[in-house]
Amino acid sequence: MIKLTDLAILFIIITIPATLLLNIKTKSIEIAVYRRIEINKMLEASVQDAVASMIEEGARGKDFKMNVEKAKEGFLRSFYINNNTIEGSIDANVLKGYISCMVVVDYDGYYLISHEEKTDYDGMILIDLVCGSKKPYEYDDFSGLTYHFTLDNRLIITDGFLGTDSFLGTREEVLEFLNDNWIDPPEFLENEEEFNDFRRRIIISVLQKAVNDTINNHNYIARQYGISYFFSLPTVPDSDWHKTIDDIGLIVFFQGMPIGISGEKINSYALGSSGLIKKDIYIIQDNVDSSISYYHKPDCDEIDDSRHFESRSSMKECAGEGYFPCPECILK
Ligand SMILES: [Zn+2]
Repeated sequence: MIKLTDLAILFIIITIPATLLLNIKTKSIEIAVYRRIEINKMLEASVQDAVASMIEEGARGKDFKMNVEKAKEGFLRSFYINNNTIEGSIDANVLKGYISCMVVVDYDGYYLISHEEKTDYDGMILIDLVCGSKKPYEYDDFSGLTYHFTLDNRLIITDGFLGTDSFLGTREEVLEFLNDNWIDPPEFLENEEEFNDFRRRIIISVLQKAVNDTINNHNYIARQYGISYFFSLPTVPDSDWHKTIDDIGLIVFFQGMPIGISGEKINSYALGSSGLIKKDIYIIQDNVDSSISYYHKPDCDEIDDSRHFESRSSMKECAGEGYFPCPECILK
């Protein structure tokens, strides 16, 4: 005969562990959510640091040099510091294994930074993040012409059958060049809007393919790091892809790191933009021959490079300091 108290005890025995487990599960999800936010913040901060270190600006602002090696170093340095790890330590090395792909988006091409196997002098196999060479945003229309796009409206065409060298110009200039050479221009060159849509589509698909291949390849690398996770391209909304190619910048994919106590893993990416293409730069230079001094666009021939000049980021600033718009570049 089962007594009511027995049933009550049975009830307690069954329900308590269940609620406890549920509590642990909820806690674990909370921890994972918190960790995810924390890691995403670190990623974003480190990507911004990397972008700042990869660009070596010239005196005229827009004339800069891209240093991909510094992008890698800048990112890692910042990421290790944010994670309280020391470069070269085991922890740092483990962390590095979760970086599945980095892409530097440059003006006229991209660089992949990914893990590669190397054999050292003693025949030991080493894995490290390696910067690849620059690859173009290339489109081949199978008519014998190859198009290399850039982040603005300039492009390069290389001609297989005309035997001419590559031609670099804006959309209008390329269109004119093709017409002059009796070549039917492709539809996407016909107007600015269509050109921009097409150009962006091509650049994004080139990047997507490169990132996808690199991340898939990381499955092999990750095994060497002892990471068991299936790496594949995470969902990146279209708006983020578009943001990626708005300007010179960096995108980093970070995946597979355990973040909870019940198997949750991070699957994330962060992007950082340099603001270089969108940034306006004006050059001010005192005129030695007259009392009127002008401000210019950085590529103006009126600027005397041998003399002192300074840059400002808006026309307002230049005007405020008493400079007039240059008739050759600003007013034209
Ligand atoms: Zn000028």
